[in-house]
Amino acid sequence: MSSVVPDNPPRSPEALLRQVFGYSEFRGRQREIIGHVAEGGHALVLMPTGGGKSLCYQIPALMSPGTTIVVSPLIALMRDQVEALTHNGVAAAVLNSSLDAETRRRTEDELLAGKLDLLYIAPERLLRESTLALLARCRINLFAIDEAHCVSQWGHDFRPEYLKLDVLAERFPAVPRIALTATADERTRGEIVGRLLGDDARIFVASFDRPNIRYSVGLKRNARQQLLAFIRRRHPGQSGIVYCFSRRKTEETAAWLVEQGLDAIAYHAGMESGDRQAAQDRFINADGLVICATIAFGMGIDKPDVRFVAHLDLPKSIESYYQETGRAGRDGLPADAWMVYSLADVVRIRQLLEQSNAGADQKKLERERLEALLAYCEHARCRRPALLGYFGEGHPGDCGHCDNCQDPPETWDATEAARMALSCVYRTGQRFGAGHVVDVLTGKRTERVEQLAHDRLSTWAIGRETDRNTWHSVMRQLLAAGYLVPDPEGHGGLRLGPECRDLLRGETRIEMRRDAVPSSRRSGSRKSVEIDTDSPLWQALRQWRLETARSEDVPPYVIFHDATLAAIVDTKPLTLDELATISGVGEHKLSRYGEAVLAALDAAAD
Ligand code: ADP
Ligand code: ZN
Repeated sequence: MSSVVPDNPPRSPEALLRQVFGYSEFRGRQREIIGHVAEGGHALVLMPTGGGKSLCYQIPALMSPGTTIVVSPLIALMRDQVEALTHNGVAAAVLNSSLDAETRRRTEDELLAGKLDLLYIAPERLLRESTLALLARCRINLFAIDEAHCVSQWGHDFRPEYLKLDVLAERFPAVPRIALTATADERTRGEIVGRLLGDDARIFVASFDRPNIRYSVGLKRNARQQLLAFIRRRHPGQSGIVYCFSRRKTEETAAWLVEQGLDAIAYHAGMESGDRQAAQDRFINADGLVICATIAFGMGIDKPDVRFVAHLDLPKSIESYYQETGRAGRDGLPADAWMVYSLADVVRIRQLLEQSNAGADQKKLERERLEALLAYCEHARCRRPALLGYFGEGHPGDCGHCDNCQDPPETWDATEAARMALSCVYRTGQRFGAGHVVDVLTGKRTERVEQLAHDRLSTWAIGRETDRNTWHSVMRQLLAAGYLVPDPEGHGGLRLGPECRDLLRGETRIEMRRDAVPSSRRSGSRKSVEIDTDSPLWQALRQWRLETARSEDVPPYVIFHDATLAAIVDTKPLTLDELATISGVGEHKLSRYGEAVLAALDAAAD
């Protein structure tokens, strides 16, 4: 394989962006970062998933002679990136354990001959003495360390080999290093700089906002039906991920969606590894498949056209939520982050937490994380400040692209109601679930009420003016805010939380959101992507893309992204020159597919 990029004359970042990748403008700080490493500086890049990290090293890789070595722990991702680069005419290859000896030798020969622009290597292979010796004989222009947070011993993705990457600084002191991650917290940042880059590294923090994602959190009523209605209304025939808590639920949900006529499959860690791989491959290659998965799914999937991520169960924390929802809309087109949750979910997740074997400190940390997540769920104003604030970033609010902005929830002063509910929990002995407490509040005579003589309590029927749904909503929000906590024995009973004293004494007030009543006339009911999927041009182009992808054995988005197809449908280019101006059409793709695209357009227009 030889590169499309001539050594001479060197091309500017702008020219490479346009000619190789077919894009007209850099995003955010990409240009600045590229300039910095091209001049030999070290850099730490913090950008959200889908923010455009890859170009930050792929363009410098092409700016000067030599090869850029990309360290990545994710084999599927490496393969994807190499395919995408190859389709843009860049000489890229991968070295990992999945290769046979023959292919590996060929790749090593190409590397030695200086024919590769980029080489992706798994850390364990890079660290072998033989690999380091091989690299020492080559011209290396940059080391890019992807998923750099794996170096953090405190994080969930810690990989011990990452600690040993300090060997790069030792053996290749003159080669710049760029470390990239979507994990933004201070501690991880410090560890990356300390272990992989050194104090003279510059840190580039991009905004973590993902403006094309519409966030919404609703109340769970009939979760499956809600999900189905959401998909049918906003994403018919499109790809999406549905996160579920348990393996069984992934399977049941997928089977049910199939019964409803959708294309859906399940994915979880309990599946045979072959089946799991097949499910993942199907999802990547499909053009409109729903995958119902546990959180085992997603790391290393960078399918750009995932149009929605749905949570049928609460994620672990805001970080997890942000990472999981970040898998939607990497191509920049509108996408949805959709979630429903209920009082029962909160009780269950809190119980799991209390019953876990974690130490007291760890539990405290997890409790705080959960509380932050619940506060986000119950948030009554624009979701973006709440979300971004968690990552230390400001946002003015009124984004116009979240459920609360589009459909502002009503709030009410729930101080009195909260005090009634808390007193009732106290009077009934702090051992019952929300159902019984609401029975007592509303004066509903049940067998249990009679048995326990709870109709003689001072809180009996004090809340009968308010309907049961509202009481359930109050109980949920009290639980979410930590005023109520589940009993540690895990029988589903609720107790007063440590902070409710002020509320009971009337020293603080509490606002609650009124739960929305489901209605068919809600805003945001149009399809999320402004693509006329019925248009014959769109159909024809998609068909052409599918056939081409099959014959080349790559996912359709490697040929062209949806955004590019949509732009083609929009502008209806008649010539190669016109086609070349469309975002996502680089020189290589133009010469490879240009004629075929024009022919497909022509045929469809007849
Ligand atoms: P990350 O690695 O940060 O998750 P990627 O590097 O995969 O994100 O980029 C996400 C998507 O955005 C990719 O499809 C990429 O081609 C696209 N992209 C990146 N930079 C630009 C740009 N300047 N203009 C248009 N698209 C871009
Ligand atoms: Zn908003």
